[in-house]
Formats: sequence, C-alpha cells, structure tokens
Amino acid sequence: MLKIQIKVLNMLYLFCSKLGFRALAVTLYFSFVLNPAIAMSEYEYLQLLVDSKQAIGARFAGSKQEQETADFIERHWLQMGYTVKSQQFAFKTQNANLRSENLTIDIPGQQDKWVVIAAHYDSTGEGSLGATDNGAGIAVLLALANRLRDHKSFPYSIRLLALGAEEVGLQGAKHYVSKLTQTEIDSIIAMVNLDTIAGGDNLYVHSAHTKPYKCDDGQGDYTSSPAVRDALQILSQTLFEDQAHKLHPAYPGYPEGVTGGWSDHAPFACAGVPIAYIETTNFSINGKDGYDGYSQSTHPKLWDCFDEKTNTACDRDAEKKWGNIWHTDNDRLSLLNELFPGRVSKQMRMNTELLERLVLDADKWLNFKKGAE
Ligand SMILES: [Zn+2]
Repeated sequence: MLKIQIKVLNMLYLFCSKLGFRALAVTLYFSFVLNPAIAMSEYEYLQLLVDSKQAIGARFAGSKQEQETADFIERHWLQMGYTVKSQQFAFKTQNANLRSENLTIDIPGQQDKWVVIAAHYDSTGEGSLGATDNGAGIAVLLALANRLRDHKSFPYSIRLLALGAEEVGLQGAKHYVSKLTQTEIDSIIAMVNLDTIAGGDNLYVHSAHTKPYKCDDGQGDYTSSPAVRDALQILSQTLFEDQAHKLHPAYPGYPEGVTGGWSDHAPFACAGVPIAYIETTNFSINGKDGYDGYSQSTHPKLWDCFDEKTNTACDRDAEKKWGNIWHTDNDRLSLLNELFPGRVSKQMRMNTELLERLVLDADKWLNFKKGAE
C-alpha cells in the first residue's frame, strides 16, 4: 500500500515538475510524504533507480533520465526531512552543450570538520543500465541518509553528495571542488567515493596514487594520504572479518591499495583532501591488460571461457567478455541477481553499515592531522 502511495506521489511530483512548477512539486511531495518517512532498503532504492521496466534505467550525463534521477534523489532526501541543496552546472561534450547538477545534504556535527561521502548518479549508455555503476552507490547514499536520522549527534559534520556527469570526465566533481573556498576545503577531513560498490567479486578500498593525478590547476595541493583508506580498512575488518574490504595487490604502475584518477575522488585529492575510494571487483584475475581490476568477476557466464587454474581466459586471443560488468550490458540488476543471488544487496548493506560506523565514531577513525603523511 505504502509503495502504491509513493508511486502516485512520484507521478504527481513528476507531472508538476514537468509543467515547470518544481517548487510546488517539491512542497506537495514534502507535505504529503514527510511523515512518516518511509525507510527503504538499499535494494529497494536500487530497483527504483535501475530496473529497466518500471524505473529510470540508463541515465546518460545531461539526459532527461539523468535529470529524473536527480529529482528522485532530491525527493527521497526531502522525504526524510533533509534540506537539499542543488548546484547546477554546464559542461561540453564533443557534440553538445549540456547541463547537470550536484545535490547535497548536510548533517552538522559537534565539530566543523567535514566528512564528505559521494557517489555519481549518471551512467553510461552502451546497453548498461548502471546497476553496479553507479546505481548501487546512490542507493547506499539514500539508505545511509535514512539511517543517520536515527542518531542524535555526530562528532564531525557529514555531507552526502550526489554528483552528476561523472562518466563524461568527472564534470560534477570538478565543478563541485572548483566552487569550494579554501576554508571549506581545509575543513574537509575526508572524502569517500562510492563507485561500483556492489556486483564485483570482492570489496576493496583504495587511496589516491602516490604519483599525483593530472590536476586542472597543477599539483600544488595534491595529497595521496592513505589515512581514510586505512581507517576504513581497519573498521571493515572489525565489522566483517574475512569478508572485509581489502587492499588490491600491487600491479604495474599501481602500488598496493592505490588507485588512478578515473573517478570522482580525483578532484578532491587534487585539492588536498584525503580520499578513499570503495569498489567491488576482482584484482586476482589476469584480465585483458593484466591484474588491473577491470575484470570484475570469475563467473563463467561473464566469460567466453574462464580457466580457474590460471585465473584468466582459456584463450586470451579469442576472449571477448573478460568478466566485465560495468559499462557493458551485463550491468543490469536482473542479470546480477541471476548470477549472484543476494550479493548486490549484501555488499550495499555492508557499505552502508561501514559508513554509518565511520561517521558515528569519526573522532576515533578520522582523528589524523590533515597534511601529515
Ligand atoms: Zn562509475
């Protein structure tokens, strides 16, 4: 019954906002649904985001579906009683001038030290419905927001950030960081990037590379501090023991546990903010280009032929599939459920729990001096 009500209200909201009455739509939605806010699981949020039949589906940067996703996130945060801030931005692709937006909610803590937890909400095209990349990240941001309402106070302040247009050059994250003042940057003690955090074989947590990323304004403030990664890894071990988030082993160009600048953490590391990046994949597979984590799973259905003894394709010259999920038509919830019953939901829940514990005891886990490496 509750779900039908939500559906009707969602339709009403979309109808009003399509007519250009977004403020009215938000108010209507807010007043009808605020009490009681409906707590949904990560999995239920994910279904509403990526189910190809009854939900938004693929959400290419700058598209109508990407905008619908922003509205979806805003609506659910409002429903939980948060104040949502929207930051619009324009960006260019090869063929077009497009627009997107970043959305934030803030939960002030006892200190003016901020923990930013971020996920991008756009997806690629190419047949992907963006379940793992990055519906799962957004589903966790929504479920986490919901769970944080159960607590009266936090040692540090918390910002949840939904970023637009990641897949076309980290547009949302770059814009977001470019608009921060130096005082704001200084007050951010940690940024955690959630990108493809469910679906792959194992959970990993990375830090920024020891070799500076290509930063828009040079590398002046760049930090490769592993402090947030290390805190999350230890916390994960205390929560999940042998299933905890791991560091990937070293592979050419990438020492153990460090990652490239290919997702939304990069602009933050460039600005001197210690980052951690959570993802699920499988670094023990000898993939197309070696042990680089691009092959997300050993599941035989994701390979033309997988050789378990050597952890690579039976025929490396003939292999086409390489265990890839993200950016392919394998990135859909129906397939992931068929291949890995219960996995996506479990990994999302683990990440929500990890982040909830991180911010609840941030003064214990993130009690490091920024800039000291
Ligand atoms: Zn992604």
